[in-house]
Amino acid sequence: MPAIAIIGAGIAGLTAAATLRKIGLKAAIYEQAQAFARIGAGIQMNPNAMKILRGLGLEARICSIGFAPERGYNREWDTGEITYLHPMGAQIEQRFGAPDISLHRAELHSALLSINPPDIIHFDKKLVGIDRNGSHLRLTFGDGGKVQADAVIGADGVHSTVLDILFGAAEPRFTGQVAYRAIYRSELLGATIDDRVKWWGPDRHIVSYKVDPRRHELYFIASTPEPDFKIESWSARGDLDQLRSAFTGFHRDARIILDACPEVRKWALVERDPLARWSEDRIVLIGDACHPMLPYMAQGAGSSMEDAVVLARCLEGADLEGFGDAFRRFERNRKERTSRIQLGARQNVWMRSAPDTAWLYEYDAWTVPLV
Ligand SMILES: Cc1cc2nc3c(=O)[nH]c(=O)nc-3n(C[C@H](O)[C@H](O)[C@H](O)COP(=O)(O)OP(=O)(O)OC[C@H]3O[C@@H](n4cnc5c(N)ncnc54)[C@H](O)[C@@H]3O)c2cc1C
Repeated sequence: MPAIAIIGAGIAGLTAAATLRKIGLKAAIYEQAQAFARIGAGIQMNPNAMKILRGLGLEARICSIGFAPERGYNREWDTGEITYLHPMGAQIEQRFGAPDISLHRAELHSALLSINPPDIIHFDKKLVGIDRNGSHLRLTFGDGGKVQADAVIGADGVHSTVLDILFGAAEPRFTGQVAYRAIYRSELLGATIDDRVKWWGPDRHIVSYKVDPRRHELYFIASTPEPDFKIESWSARGDLDQLRSAFTGFHRDARIILDACPEVRKWALVERDPLARWSEDRIVLIGDACHPMLPYMAQGAGSSMEDAVVLARCLEGADLEGFGDAFRRFERNRKERTSRIQLGARQNVWMRSAPDTAWLYEYDAWTVPLV
């Protein structure tokens, strides 16, 4: 059996380990962190992502811990006027064959972790190099450790080392926008707000939604221009006064969300143009490593999970000599869709008015015909 090394135990890496096991391949995961941290961030699993979780046996678990909003409000930042009311709940499930669930990102991560044997994950293993000479790949880690592998899956996120090693790519581009994110108890609001809402400002916006079935916890992401933000601390603690002052002119119901927040973290929003290549011989990239996207279509995690399913389908039946071909086939099957999402998310207009959601949500990575 080939030795497959997955770099990164994020959403893409954990999903890939699980989909590979479904087709009889074993992989070891190497993760730079010493342990997993529970950072306050929400995540939406749209129907295309929920179909993947269903195939992994996780649908019921995700539905029981997440929240299924009945509708998504889109509102003008100052007047509160509704620009588009997105039908969700039973309507979206009926139309696309799977629900639309919002939850804590850490809960999604734990669910994916639970379907992998714990002993395949090696912590404190920061990949620093891959020696591609000879018949095996030789991986080197920050602690000086080395392992041999027949194939490498780079699932190491937006600042991917595997991408650097393969193609010498530059760092992703900072958009000049930052995202403040927090999850806190909804009772702190002291008021009732929409269960799911996006407030559309001219160059900044706030998205908020509940992340648990009893609506006890509220998540928000507020993005705003801060071109001078120093990216070295790209998930730093945020300054609440600075955040609130960036949204002073917003409608009262939008400001409530920021006013009630006890603490917040801050991310630089970075992106890349679609890449020309995602693989070379026996090394392939998946997830944010090859198609980082802005969060404005809520598809980063969903796309990463789709990659994992399609990659396993391309690898099914492949022998060691067939890895390169399977990786190229994977690229051919995924790039058009992920590029469309990357470029669409960049515009930040998704859901401001009624969008065409069919191409995005109908997709079922388990059954979509492969070219
Ligand atoms: C503000 C914001 C909101 C978002 N909202 C949504 C949403 O609602 N819905 C959605 O689907 N997506 C959303 N996303 C996107 C989503 O979080 C990412 O697209 C997704 O996590 C990508 O998964 P990944 O596994 O590729 O990368 P990651 O989850 O970043 O995982 C990469 C892993 O690799 C590890 N790693 C990195 N370098 C190395 C190395 N050299 N050696 C070993 N390990 C390494 C990291 O520690 C990490 O564990 C959002 C993103 C942001 C920033």
